[in-house]
Amino acid sequence: MLDKREFYINGQWTAPNQTNNFNVIDPSTEQICGVISLGDQVDTDAAVAAANVAFENWSRSFKEERIALLERILDCYNKRSNDIAQAISLEMGAPIDMAKKQQVGAGAWHINGFIHTLKSFEFDQMLGAHAPNDRILYEPVGICGLITPWNWPMNQITLKVIPALAAGCTMVLKPSEIAPLSAMLFAQIMHDAGTPAGVFNMLNGSGVGVGAQLSGHPDIDMISFTGSTRAGTEISKNAAASHKRVHLELGGKGANIIFSDADKQAAKRSTLHCFNNTGQSCNAPTRMLVQREIYDDCIAIATAVANNHEVAPASKSGNHAGPVVSRAQFDKIQAYIQAGLDEGARLVAGGLGLPEGIESGFFVRPTVFADVSNNMKIARDEIFGPVLSIIPFDTEEEAVRIANDTPYGLTNYLHSEDGEKRNRIARRLRSGMVEMNGQARGAGSPFGGIKASGNGREGGVWGLQEFLEVKSVSGWAV
Ligand code: NAD
Repeated sequence: MLDKREFYINGQWTAPNQTNNFNVIDPSTEQICGVISLGDQVDTDAAVAAANVAFENWSRSFKEERIALLERILDCYNKRSNDIAQAISLEMGAPIDMAKKQQVGAGAWHINGFIHTLKSFEFDQMLGAHAPNDRILYEPVGICGLITPWNWPMNQITLKVIPALAAGCTMVLKPSEIAPLSAMLFAQIMHDAGTPAGVFNMLNGSGVGVGAQLSGHPDIDMISFTGSTRAGTEISKNAAASHKRVHLELGGKGANIIFSDADKQAAKRSTLHCFNNTGQSCNAPTRMLVQREIYDDCIAIATAVANNHEVAPASKSGNHAGPVVSRAQFDKIQAYIQAGLDEGARLVAGGLGLPEGIESGFFVRPTVFADVSNNMKIARDEIFGPVLSIIPFDTEEEAVRIANDTPYGLTNYLHSEDGEKRNRIARRLRSGMVEMNGQARGAGSPFGGIKASGNGREGGVWGLQEFLEVKSVSGWAV
């Protein structure tokens, strides 16, 4: 069992103020695989104080210095990629090949992306030719509290830590207490890359403990949070008294509109996408809206994909699905499957209980419901597991109405060979992102949502600007 009870504060691994053990559980075996300590107010204050002292110098560092640090971090990250993949696979159950390629790959992709963004970003800009003595200065927001979830650990940590560094901010990271092992490796990478002491600090802790201490802390200027909509609301309230900037990346319930003129692979691709990471992605396309003419065909395809989707331990090589992260998450998903049955949705694949041949671990059967109506619980709530809801529609108008009838607004998906129709509908979908015909968004595009999916944008120049204040100066000497 791994003993990981220290925190990273002011450039050193530091014992907690009081030991408060918390077990890390391997979701494939239900066995304890590590122990961390949950921090308290004394630990939080020490980390925030270190970040405050370091801000003086780091906020005034030159762009070249920041680029060089980011390049060293990328180098160290790539060297430790196997270790990070093992840690992610162990702590949250991502199958090892998927952890290496997608989970660890996402982190490297973001670090690299921010190096490019930083190189081309101008921190001092002219207002315009009409006002030659005006300057717009982009300055670091200050001391940042970064709070992340367990489902894509390196993706979310790099989307916050790297732009915060690039902006000249200093920070305290609180990763998910459920999946802290990869974050601790990341802290070691920051150390090995030569991050100046106090610029980056990392504490483990619970949401109501260190999480709330950070969001309410008078010396923290900004909270960047990724996680549930519930926690996002609590953080916003707690941060209000100290007028922090609050950046939120929350849940989702993406619609995936498949028109009868979609390419033949659309249903298969979309079902696999929904089940990726065992359905534990905020942008998973969990509501499949299918035009009536191809409705039965799509149900048959989704059913076959689910029935053929192997479920197996995360340590095994291959492209199977792993377990969900925890007992609590398993129970929550089972309750949603029961709710789907109770509300009269037609179960066409999967269902309650463990997959055949599996006796322990938090494994869920890849599940598909057909004949779902958009007011059922399984269509309204974020389930965060491998559960797909299929909803029929007849017209374009109806599809847009159903897609937008949700509290969330993260990613919507659309499949049609008619380009004009695609573009027309993309404008009408109320979400931060629209992905069409299975084409992934390009490097440097912003990730984020609206409504109950949050208010922030991560990645690219938008992800950097989240960590910058805009100062308007007149009378600038030229
Ligand atoms: P969670 O909200 O339970 O926890 C996320 C983090 O917030 C953890 O570090 C937790 O300790 C902390 N936290 C919890 N309550 C808190 C509080 N009151 N104050 C401060 N911190 C608190 O979420 P989770 O279960 O870890 O992650 C799953 C959720 O994350 C899903 O809803 C998913 O959609 C969302 N998510 C969103 C995005 C996005 O970019 N929009 C990406 C990934 C995950």
